[in-house]
Amino acid sequence: MKVPLTGAVAPYVTDMSDEPEFRRDPVCGRWAVVAPERSRRPMTLDGAEPRHRKNGERKPCPFCPGQEHDTPREVLAYREPGTPADGPGWRLRVVPNRFPAVRPDVDEEACSVGGMVFVTTPGLGRAEVMIECPEHLTDPTKLTDGRFADVFRAYRDRLLTLAEDPRLAYAAVFKNVGAEAGASLGHTHSQLVATPVVPDAVEAELAGGKEFYTRTRRCVFCDLAARELAAGKRLIARSANFLAVAAYAPRFAYEFWVLPLAHAARYETLSDAAALELAVLMKRVLTALDRAQAEPAYNWFLHAAPLRSAELPHFHWHLEVLPRTARPAGLEWGFGCYITTVAPEQAAWELRAAL
Ligand SMILES: [Zn+2]
Ligand SMILES: [Zn+2]
Repeated sequence: MKVPLTGAVAPYVTDMSDEPEFRRDPVCGRWAVVAPERSRRPMTLDGAEPRHRKNGERKPCPFCPGQEHDTPREVLAYREPGTPADGPGWRLRVVPNRFPAVRPDVDEEACSVGGMVFVTTPGLGRAEVMIECPEHLTDPTKLTDGRFADVFRAYRDRLLTLAEDPRLAYAAVFKNVGAEAGASLGHTHSQLVATPVVPDAVEAELAGGKEFYTRTRRCVFCDLAARELAAGKRLIARSANFLAVAAYAPRFAYEFWVLPLAHAARYETLSDAAALELAVLMKRVLTALDRAQAEPAYNWFLHAAPLRSAELPHFHWHLEVLPRTARPAGLEWGFGCYITTVAPEQAAWELRAAL
């Protein structure tokens, strides 16, 4: 793995040496290795460094206004009053994914195969694309605050609608920015994939949160927020109701999490005002990331309580932002153990400096 540091290394004095250190994620228990010395290894293969964002694409693209015929019929749109569905006049638009990984209309009888070894279940679900603005912008930080807030409001509105289908247990909401992060179209968009199962990463957090709660009667995320606020060394930015912190046991250098300060398991409870506040904070930190790391590709994803969940005392919704500052290799793919070469304390220092 390679972490390209842009410019001089910031003079942050960490309380750790260059010695490698194992760190355990406080919620899901995943181990990571922080090994700053590894950043000095030689890198001689072409393309060994992860790519940054590039944009050389044709316009208009299938997500641009006037191209609505290129996408399936919209399931949600924030649009000018009086403009007809599936035509221009929208400022945000959600459509079923034209090339879905899962479908709402599978024949559940035909493809159910049970077995001890090979278990199959129908690829039932809903895959949707959220086109975040009509302008062909490839960088979400170029959205106005109001447009950025629309994205967080639309996440909520879709979760509420998807919850009405009792076959669906979870809606994974995520965003890929840049080809290195898996995006195939540049026009800024998010994706939703709703499935009959709760994804492993969320199950692990639910289980970790429950285990912590059983021991302490407290929410691990609330504890984490309080400790990070008090200590400050991994704190990147905060607003009245939200906190951005460098992940304690990151998978990639500069990984950060954004979470509400007040306990909330269900993202669906987010108010319009809170969506705006969240948007302003995310824009600030993402802009700092672009400055500090020369516009890396990144993913963000929403980890929230399952659909139709009660307000859980042991889980706390949050956004995780994963910059592609490195490329997973054998240890990561094969064993689920991540090595990062920038200490989170250093990353937080650099991001604070770039705000
Ligand atoms: Zn476009
Ligand atoms: Zn909490």
